[in-house]
Amino acid sequence: MRGYILVPESVSCNVCKYCGARPIIAMADVAEYVVKCPNSDSHYHTEPGLIDIEDWNLHNIPSANDQVDVAPNKAALDHFFHLNGAIISLANAD
Ligand SMILES: [Zn+2]
Repeated sequence: MRGYILVPESVSCNVCKYCGARPIIAMADVAEYVVKCPNSDSHYHTEPGLIDIEDWNLHNIPSANDQVDVAPNKAALDHFFHLNGAIISLANAD
């Protein structure tokens, strides 16, 4: 990374859907920029070119974040209840 600037607080932009960080604007090449997560290059970043906050926002919508969070939690709950059910049935067997 050759340098980056923070997106000003006055600019409305979504946070990274993976880690919740505000994006930064990094220079990819001469007069080419990417809007990216400051924590990881593997998180979403825009294609090099003009500063495209809109594209970042489209790929980091809060509702997508909720879906990512809900899925593992639901799976964990299902596993818990399944395990709990197994323990109860064992106790009843005695
Ligand atoms: Zn991130």
